Amino acid sequence: MTGTELFDLHSHSLESDGILSPEALVSRAKLNNVTTLALTDHDTLAGIGRAKAAALVEGMKIITGIELSSQWAGRGIHIVGLNIDVDSPSMEEAVSHQLATRETRAEQIGRRLEKYGITNALAGAREFSGGAAIGRPHFGRFLVEQGHVKNMNQAFKKYLGAGKPGDVKQDWPEFDTVIGWIHRSGGVAVLAHPCKYKMTRSKLCAMVRDFADLGGDAMEVVCGPQTPAQTSDMLKIANQFGLKASCGSDFHSPGAQWQELGRFPPLPDGIEPVWSCWQ
Ligand code: AMP
Ligand code: MN
Ligand code: MN
Ligand code: MN
Repeated sequence: MTGTELFDLHSHSLESDGILSPEALVSRAKLNNVTTLALTDHDTLAGIGRAKAAALVEGMKIITGIELSSQWAGRGIHIVGLNIDVDSPSMEEAVSHQLATRETRAEQIGRRLEKYGITNALAGAREFSGGAAIGRPHFGRFLVEQGHVKNMNQAFKKYLGAGKPGDVKQDWPEFDTVIGWIHRSGGVAVLAHPCKYKMTRSKLCAMVRDFADLGGDAMEVVCGPQTPAQTSDMLKIANQFGLKASCGSDFHSPGAQWQELGRFPPLPDGIEPVWSCWQ
C-alpha cells in the first residue's frame, strides 16, 4: 500500500437510506481522494452495478459490499460484508430474506405509528424510499415532512430509535446466519460501528467475542468521527479477539448530520487491515 491510498469501506446510496445516486457517491468519493470505496447499502446490492460502472470511468476501485441487519441479545447490530460475490446463491438468499423482512417490518412500523395517531406512515415512507430497501429513515423523513417532529434526530428520539414504537428488530437473523451468508459468498464479515451501540464496555466485549467465535473476520476500528481514546480502545478490543481492522465513513448524505466520505481518522498501526484479505 502506498501513502496515497485511502480506503472508505462503509457508505450508502439511495438504494437504501442514502441520498446520493451510486454515480454521485462515486464522484464525491473521488473528489475526497478516496481510492477504494465500498458501497454497503442496507440489505441490498441494487446499487453495486451502477457504482462499478461509474468507478470504471472515475478510475476508482469499488469493493462490493452490503450492510446486513442482525441481532444479538435482543439488540439490533449491523454486519458489513466486504468483497462478496454479488451473484452467489448465498447473497441472493440473504438479500431476498432481508428485503422481505424489511417489508413486513415496515408494515408493522406503520401499524404501530397508527396507534400514536399517525396515519398513512407506511405509504409516506414508501414514497420516500422510492422503491429502495425501506427503513426507519424513510419513516423519519415522512414524520418530519408531516410536522410530527422537527427533524430526523427527534424522529428517532420520539418514534423510531431503540425502545420506541418504530424499533422493530425481532425478525433480524442472528450472527451465525449473517456470517454464514457472507462467507459462502466469498466475503469478509466486519462488525459495523462498534463505538455506536451505546453498550457498556463489558457488554461490547461479550458481543465482539461472540462475533469472533462465530467466524467474524474484522471490525470497524475507525468509523466516522471518534476520539483518539475511542480508536485506541477499539484497536485493543479488535486485537484481543483476533479481528482485523476496517475503516469507513458510514456516509449517507452531504451535510452536518453525517460524516463526509473519506473523512475519518487513519487506522492505527499494530493491526492487520481488512484489505489484506483481498489484496
Ligand atoms: P433501519 O436500517 O431501518 O433499522 O434504520 C437504521 C438507520 O437509521 C441507520 O442506518 C441510520 O442511517 C439511521 N439512523 C439511526 N439513528 C438515527 C438518528 N438518530 N438520526 C438519523 N438517522 C438515524
Ligand atoms: Mn443507514
Ligand atoms: Mn449501521
Ligand atoms: Mn451504514
